[in-house]
Amino acid sequence: MSTGLRYKSKLVNPEEKQELLAERLLSPRTQAQRSHPVKLKDHEKQYVGFATLPNQVHRKSVKKGFDFTLMVAGESGLGKSTLVNSLFLTDLYKDRKLLNAEERISQTVEILKHTVDIEEKGVKLKLTIVDTPGFGDAVNNTECWKPITDYIDQQFEQYFRDESGLNRKNIQDNRVHCCLYFISPFGHGLRPVDVEFMKALHEKVNIVPLIAKADCLIPSEIRKLKERIREEIDKFGIKVYQFPDCDSDEDEEFKQQDRELKESAPFAVIGSNTVVEAKGQRVRGRLYPWGIVEVENQAHCDFVKLRNMLIRTHMHDLKDVTCDVHYENYRAQCIQQMTSKLTQDNRIESPIPILPLPTPDAETEKLIKMKDEELRRMQEMLQKMQQQMQDQ
Ligand code: GDP
Repeated sequence: MSTGLRYKSKLVNPEEKQELLAERLLSPRTQAQRSHPVKLKDHEKQYVGFATLPNQVHRKSVKKGFDFTLMVAGESGLGKSTLVNSLFLTDLYKDRKLLNAEERISQTVEILKHTVDIEEKGVKLKLTIVDTPGFGDAVNNTECWKPITDYIDQQFEQYFRDESGLNRKNIQDNRVHCCLYFISPFGHGLRPVDVEFMKALHEKVNIVPLIAKADCLIPSEIRKLKERIREEIDKFGIKVYQFPDCDSDEDEEFKQQDRELKESAPFAVIGSNTVVEAKGQRVRGRLYPWGIVEVENQAHCDFVKLRNMLIRTHMHDLKDVTCDVHYENYRAQCIQQMTSKLTQDNRIESPIPILPLPTPDAETEKLIKMKDEELRRMQEMLQKMQQQMQDQ
């Protein structure tokens, strides 16, 4: 209890003391104002202070910063890198080396990670893009999604391990929160490889299917392709990311936006790394001899809808679904395997292979030695002090 209140408790009766406490919780007044208790209105007396909880959470989260891991997959050349750069206004692919046809024949699917720290109005976001070059490029694409499913499982496994370990405070979460899957605009719907990919991943990650390079199609073709893809997704039992239901107390404008968002899926997108001049304004777009396609023009494509969904409205939900549904599934499977192994063998054996501990580098070793030395000195000092006390 603060000294200020104890001092006043000598002067005021218990009821006034309660009011004084409520007043202190209610508003950050100056010390001078506090020394003259004011009578509170009845509704103010009920105020405990937990209404500030959202502010506390907000402050803490902003201080900590946010992270988001986005995977992009689809045949090469469908505009994945261009779209990611257009979405986050960065150049994540500066050092990319493009392979020729001969090199691509022997290439296997790779997993590449790019991380950027972006900041907007004091809010920091650590964005990780997981790229999957080589997917769908080989002559034989049987199981070409395997390295991708393995990668997602490995991130779950690492998280499970860290969560069950000693240092749970500093867990690095590398789980994939969303996978943008690029569908070719040139086909008549989904290709077998698209179906197989999505079926292999839909229980592990939030899949958002996209129609790539939508400027290659006229509006009626886009409508037809979208319909076809939606039908095939249903027919093959593919579970793509479901946008959550809109709260009934939301305003009409928000509800309308939510309806449009759901009706637009799968989003037909256009990407561009260049800024062009259209109607006197500088816009991100693609300049053709017959006109300009604007990336952020909602009449031209669904880029803005995708960006709003991914960044402004559903980023948190994507993370929640990853954690509460996909990771929970993985975790439950792991625990189930552990338990069945235990009943079979009557001894616990982890189904997760034990990773070898990393060998510390020279710098870490030096630090450990210094800490050991410090501990030894402290122990010596303690012994001396104990000896002195016994002697007295
Ligand atoms: P990735 O291999 O999937 O990463 O594809 P890139 O982003 O490297 O794009 C391959 C080519 O397609 C490049 O020449 C891009 O300029 C072009 N491209 C990218 N996005 C679009 C688009 O939306 N429409 C059209 N027509 N071309 C695009």
